[in-house]
Amino acid sequence: QIAANSNCDVSETSDTSVPPQEVYRLVLLGDPGVGKSSLASAFACVLSAGGCEGGDGEADREVYTRRMAVDGVDALVLVSVGRTQETSFEECCPHGDAFLLVYSVADRASFDAASERRIHLRRARPTHQDPPVIFVGNKSDLVRCRAVSEEEGKACAVVFGCKFIETSAPLQLHVVDLFVGAVRQVRLHRAVIGA
Ligand code: GDP
Repeated sequence: QIAANSNCDVSETSDTSVPPQEVYRLVLLGDPGVGKSSLASAFACVLSAGGCEGGDGEADREVYTRRMAVDGVDALVLVSVGRTQETSFEECCPHGDAFLLVYSVADRASFDAASERRIHLRRARPTHQDPPVIFVGNKSDLVRCRAVSEEEGKACAVVFGCKFIETSAPLQLHVVDLFVGAVRQVRLHRAVIGA
């Protein structure tokens, strides 16, 4: 069992541990500056700040944690933030139960990069083990700078067989929905693969 961070002031349950099957490792991937850390910290408490270059496992990444009930069942959500672009993608792969591919709706290049990552991710695992992936269009509050429409994001997600959501970290718009949705996706996936 994994202990929850007792200092976490957003924790919504009183128990200090959950069974291993209720631990969810969610990995945020995306170009620098799209808002990965902002989303993670808007949702959860920091567990480790990372910074160990060249390290292996969780120690080299920012990790956030939040314990919460999802559909009435306690879950411990661990959110990892990739340090860099492609290298962290490779490193994160073995550890994630679900991947949240983040782009900024105000930055088309970051949207293209998210699509590229989806292709790499599909190659990285056999199809039947394909983990849930969610396309996340962050910075939806930047209405006047928008470079990628919501329709385009949705269409791309359909092509790649992903879920899709738009978020705003500072406005806390759909941030909880994003992570709760990811937990639900992992539960569905585990039921399908019999994990
Ligand atoms: P990361 O490099 O992907 O982890 O990006 P950060 O979380 O460090 O965010 C980069 C910058 O974008 C910071 O100045 C954030 O305050 C800002 N930012 C993050 N999310 C949003 C958002 O949803 N809306 C707006 N307007 N700014 C955001």
